[in-house]
Amino acid sequence: MSKVLVIGAGGVGSVAVHKMAMNPEIFSHISLASRTKSKCDAIAESVKPRTNVDIDTYGLDADDVAATTALLNSIKPALVVNLALPYQDLNIMEACLAAGVHYMDTANYEPLDVAKFEYHWQWAYQDRFKEAGLTALLGSGFDPGVTSVFTTYLKKHHFDRIDTLDILDCNGGDHGQAFATNFNPEINIREVTAVARHWENGDWVETPPMSVKQSFDFEAVGPKNMYLMYHEEIESLKTHLPEIKRIRFWMTFGDAYITHLNVLQAVGMTRIDPVMYEGKEIIPLQFLKAVLPEPASLGPTTKGKTNIGCIATGLGKDGKEKTLYIYNICDHEDAYAETGNQAVSYTTGVPAMIGAAMLVTGKWTGAGVWNMEQFDPDPFMDMLNAHGLPWQVKELDGPLQF
Ligand code: NDP
Repeated sequence: MSKVLVIGAGGVGSVAVHKMAMNPEIFSHISLASRTKSKCDAIAESVKPRTNVDIDTYGLDADDVAATTALLNSIKPALVVNLALPYQDLNIMEACLAAGVHYMDTANYEPLDVAKFEYHWQWAYQDRFKEAGLTALLGSGFDPGVTSVFTTYLKKHHFDRIDTLDILDCNGGDHGQAFATNFNPEINIREVTAVARHWENGDWVETPPMSVKQSFDFEAVGPKNMYLMYHEEIESLKTHLPEIKRIRFWMTFGDAYITHLNVLQAVGMTRIDPVMYEGKEIIPLQFLKAVLPEPASLGPTTKGKTNIGCIATGLGKDGKEKTLYIYNICDHEDAYAETGNQAVSYTTGVPAMIGAAMLVTGKWTGAGVWNMEQFDPDPFMDMLNAHGLPWQVKELDGPLQF
């Protein structure tokens, strides 16, 4: 039984709050704060008839450390679940330290002016969280999040040693729009247009954005083109599981998405440096976000499934070389029926609820800053099965041929 404060009333925040309210034996009281209070109120109004749970709502600029600290001191939650944007991570961690509250998020800190997905800013808080006796859990979404837990689950139960790991993120959903992103467009486009990096034999290997393409046949979706990308869990996995010689991350994109993105890039609409417009500085990518559909609005029209998982090759516990594929399939329409949000928000919001449950029930404890793969995967994996993201493991004939 624990009090939590969720910050961020987007699609992910909405799913996490709905799922927390469905588990009142774990979350005794839920507060929701975000920049626009009316968005918090709309979520509270959707939660009430579904669960009969009341959510307290607050307007908050989480970049204002003093205001966040004051809110924490008045609510006195056991845990802050940060589901705002990566830019807010450090400010919310500061407020948690000031108010003596545990911290959790789903995406690593990024500075506004440069698209860099790196953990060092948040890992630098290690000593301060340890000294304060507080826990900070980083990256409890699907990727990062479940993909790291999948990896440690395979290592714990199936492998003596993992040699290669490929993370495959497929969204086979169709939202019926010419161009839209399934989570925050600014973060999504910054991620997709960044230089691709993967980990191989103790070093980073860089390739131009979206330049390495493979086709893969995803169960329940079919064959899709997927592209090599950098993703933040590569950095934490290579740090905490240094035996893995190669770690790659792949994400699927349709041809129409790539064509739109290429045009937007070519005309400068994805720039994140300021541009003067009618005497005022604007950031083109932020303007683009303002004209694109809100990810939360895609829920009613999105059909199809997501399939996200990990393929690991290594030395099995039976002494034989093997390749295992562990994955979850999630249906957009089912996710919408249950929480009013499509599957990309659902596959992030459910693990956010589960990560919060791990902390408030004491299944995962310890002072300091932690990544997902540092904890016992089993209680988290059990909750995935029980709360809407069932997973399966299958053995492949051999390692990936690419
Ligand atoms: P949205 O843009 O839909 O929602 C973000 C919310 O945060 C909005 O309600 C926004 O308010 C609020 N917010 C922004 N700035 C502030 C601020 N300064 N103070 C208070 N609130 C603020 O994003 P999503 O819900 O799609 O994503 C949420 C997070 O989840 C992101 O960090 C994203 O990177 C992460 N994510 C992680 C994934 C994973 O698998 N690990 C996958 C997908 C997303 P307003 O509405 O007023 O703008």
